[in-house]
Order: sequence, then C-alpha cells, then structure tokens
Amino acid sequence: MRRGELIDGRDSANATATRSGPAASAEGIAAAEKIYEMPFADLLFRAQTVHRAHFDANEIQTSRLLSIKTGGCPEDCSYCSQSACNETGLTASKLMEVQRVVDEAARAKAEGATRWCMGAAWRSPKERDMPTVLAMVRGVKALGMETCMTLGMLTPGQAGALADAGLDYYNHNVDTSEDFYPEVVTTRTYADRLDTLDTVRAAGIKVCSGGILGLGEGVDDRIAMLVALAELPSPPDSVPINMLVPVEGTPLAQAPKVDPLDFVRVVALARILMPTSWVRLSAGRAEMSDETQALCFLAGANSIFVGDTLLTTGNAGEDRDAALFRRLGLRPARLPEALAEVAE
Ligand code: SF4
Repeated sequence: MRRGELIDGRDSANATATRSGPAASAEGIAAAEKIYEMPFADLLFRAQTVHRAHFDANEIQTSRLLSIKTGGCPEDCSYCSQSACNETGLTASKLMEVQRVVDEAARAKAEGATRWCMGAAWRSPKERDMPTVLAMVRGVKALGMETCMTLGMLTPGQAGALADAGLDYYNHNVDTSEDFYPEVVTTRTYADRLDTLDTVRAAGIKVCSGGILGLGEGVDDRIAMLVALAELPSPPDSVPINMLVPVEGTPLAQAPKVDPLDFVRVVALARILMPTSWVRLSAGRAEMSDETQALCFLAGANSIFVGDTLLTTGNAGEDRDAALFRRLGLRPARLPEALAEVAE
C-alpha cells in the first residue's frame, strides 16, 4: 500500500473531524516554552516539586505490553515496523487467542506488572473481532490487573463495550504536534486522533496518550504536543513519552538521535504541565543509559514498560530494571485499592 492511499476513502469510525482551531493554544505554547527554556537545574527542581506534590517520588508504576495482533496495519505511520506501507520484513499475524493472552498476563503479574497493555495493529477494530477483544479484557481483569488496549480508532459503541467489559485505559497517541503530524502519518488526521480520545473519555475509560521524540520534529513541535495533551478537556491519565527506535525499512530508519538532555527536558515539561498524570518512559528505554533514565525519573517520569520486548522492538529487560531500581532505591507502585482487593 502506498503512503496516503487511505486518506480520501476514509471509512473509519471517526472519519469526520469536528474540531475547529488549533489543538494547542498560542498562550499555552508561549507559557510552556518559558518553562522548557529554564536552566536545567531549575527545570528539574520545579518538575520534582510538582511530582512530589502528587506522587510518591520513589514509586514507579510498571506495565507490560503484548502485541495481540502484529503487522499488516493499513496506516502509514512512518516510524512503525507494523505498517503495511513499510517494508520491514515483519510477518503479519492473526489476532491471538484469548486464553494465551490471559496466560501471558498472569505470568506478567507474577513478575510484578500491575497493568497489562494489549496492542493490535489496526486502523480500527472490526466488529467481528470485538467479542474476542472484550473476552481478553474480562479475562485479564479477573486476574486483578489493570487493563489497557490500543486498537486504533473506535466508534462510541465499541468504546462503550470496552468500558462495560472493564477496560481501564485506552492508549491512542497523538505522536507529535498538530503541525508536524502530516509529515509522520497521512492516512488519518490529528483531529481524528483527538476525536477518538473524546470518544474514549466519554465512555468513561481513562485516556493514555503521548508521543514520540526523534521523528525529525523540532523542539517547538515537542512543546506543542505536550500543550495539546495538557489542554484536552482533561489531561490524559497516562502520558507515554517514546524515543524513536529506528527500524530498517521505515522512512525514519536513518533519523538522527535525540539529545538525551532534550529528552529529559520534555519529560520535565510533561510532568509540570500534567501534574497528576502517570508519565511513562516507553519505547527507546533500552537505548538509554541508566543515567538518562535516572534523570527522567528525577524529572517526574513514574511509569515504565517492563519486559524484554514492547510491541515489536526491544525493551530494557527485567534484570537491568531490577538492578536500576535497586541502585536508585525505587519501588514498584502499588495497585489501586479496588484492584488490590481482587488480586488478594
Ligand atoms: S503505529 Fe499503530 S496505527 Fe500506525 S502503522 Fe503502526 S500499528 Fe498501525
């Protein structure tokens, strides 16, 4: 499939963009720029102060991610190994069986993960797949874990069904700024993205939404992305901040690396703009030094993906994480009370 092929014939859940005006206000961007440009020590101190007002600074929430349907995605995200538009050599798979997903979740729970995230490489779920996906949510909830899914765009009916099944979080990243978005994806719009976030929130599911650094964007795009998230009707409950893991065969295979200190600044700004959100270090953590990760935690990151792989790329791995937690005196965050009771 060629890049852009779907844009005219969109048939998806949320093809009609209903928004007007920019996703991030000019005032919000101006204020955020001032914060971002503070001297590094002042920025980190401010981020730490905000962080400590809302969280235990020594606790890190841990999630595990499973690809329940890999590859063959019709979207043309230029960073993604799973796009059918990118020739990455990845073999597409069918939707996994429910019991296998639940068994893997049980194993992750035994290893300390509190949230189980399930990702499918779809533009949006097909109705015929919904019963399977809903059974996965019910099965993982019964284990006493938090559940999260990322399935692409949703209709209100699909979001309602996921909420009824007990889904806690829905991940749908905005990726970058509204202005830079068409450079990264052409098969959907930023407004489509925001519409799905509205649909998810309206269904009563918590929103997980963040972005990726290293797509060729400028600092202004990174700031505008965070302001767009912070200015949603309510900020996302979880904000994953990814560092691009370049994949051979994608248009971004040779993308220049992000300066680690710039990455830390973005994490600090996310913490300051969204004081009560879980800020998650996501893809790219395997490529980060322990020192960069430690600075990110100081800047207010308080959530990570654990395990050896994310959807299709490598992750830091349990042993390295355990060692880093020990060295920094960090502890895994506890489950929310209601779920902790189920887990007992
Ligand atoms: S990021 Fe998601 S929507 Fe985009 S191509 Fe990859 S799997 Fe598809």
